[in-house]
Amino acid sequence: MSVIQRNTRTIDLSAIENNMKAIRSSVPDSAKLIAVVKADGYGHGAVETALAAIKGGADMLAVAAVSEGVQLREKGIRVPVLVLGAVTASDVQEGAEYGLIQTVCSPEMVFLCEQAGEFLQKQTEVHLKIDTGMGRIGVRNEMERDAVLAALEDCPHVRLTGAFTHFSDADGDEDGIEFTECQYRQFLKLTEPLPESVLRHCCNSAAIHRFPEMALDIVRAGISLYGYPPVHTETALKPCMTWTAVISYIKDLPAGSYVSYGRTYRSDHPVRTATITCGYADGYFRACAKDGYVLIRGKRAKIIGRVCMDQMMADISDIDDARTGDEVVLLGKSGSESIDAEEIASWAGTISYEILCSSGSRVGRKYISHQ
Ligand SMILES: *Cc1c(COP(=O)(O)O)cnc(C)c1O
Repeated sequence: MSVIQRNTRTIDLSAIENNMKAIRSSVPDSAKLIAVVKADGYGHGAVETALAAIKGGADMLAVAAVSEGVQLREKGIRVPVLVLGAVTASDVQEGAEYGLIQTVCSPEMVFLCEQAGEFLQKQTEVHLKIDTGMGRIGVRNEMERDAVLAALEDCPHVRLTGAFTHFSDADGDEDGIEFTECQYRQFLKLTEPLPESVLRHCCNSAAIHRFPEMALDIVRAGISLYGYPPVHTETALKPCMTWTAVISYIKDLPAGSYVSYGRTYRSDHPVRTATITCGYADGYFRACAKDGYVLIRGKRAKIIGRVCMDQMMADISDIDDARTGDEVVLLGKSGSESIDAEEIASWAGTISYEILCSSGSRVGRKYISHQ
């Protein structure tokens, strides 16, 4: 029995693979590639994205939390997996058990890993996080770094195999560029005494494109893997997600009619409206109502009135051939028109990342591949 979804996000796995290959060819050969698949692969599905990225040349995966790493392991994914968030007492043991690389930035965190490693009678790999200006997690100076290194000396079940920092403004203006260069220099300084075998990494997507000379041993590609580079780049990247819903109802309203909650829309002429099977509970931003459009039969239709929890309305007065049951493209292409996540983000006052990650749990997901 086929289930018709009210609305569906369709993921192009070939595009993810090709994006990974394009990133591969844009970074120095000496650098390895981490595919960042946290937050369910930025809403694309962590496991499917990871497999496509590995096909495209990813050497390692990164997630935000141990539970996300476990999900990859349980699907049989064996490549190294780095947990980017700081290790915690509640999940250190599971992380060690599943052979995930954990992130440490204090002696206490190293001791947590040692306890887990000792209990399991196995070594746990860790990367040291260095805070060079993000103000999030990480050691901030030589003293804090040395305290972690000293703890490592006392912990035979913990092995330091990497060190990394995160740029806060690599997609920023001139000031951001300067700040990123500062962060980079500070990172080099604080990693100087580490053994040659320790992998050093600092580049997120923006830095991969802007500062290839900072690639070091590995780069961490997130948003660019999904086709939305945060800065201008010649690297050929393609969005991988489309999002479609359906027209459930069409009606003609006379001039002076209201549409949706709060009566924010009142027609000043007769208007034909389509009701669409998607709302904010599906992840469509309520903030899009004022400026947003959807695509129907290759044409733009303006969203009118507030976006409801499960439905929204659009003006289809100019789309004569629109019919109940028609596909509505919320994100993607229809004929020669297209709407990408950056455009939706601009209506909602946010960034493409948040549009990709926003999928509600009842939204369908479909995978396609051309190879
Ligand atoms: C999310 C994340 C990334 C990926 O960032 P993008 O901008 O999506 O490329 C890289 N490193 C860390 C530490 C992150 O948290």
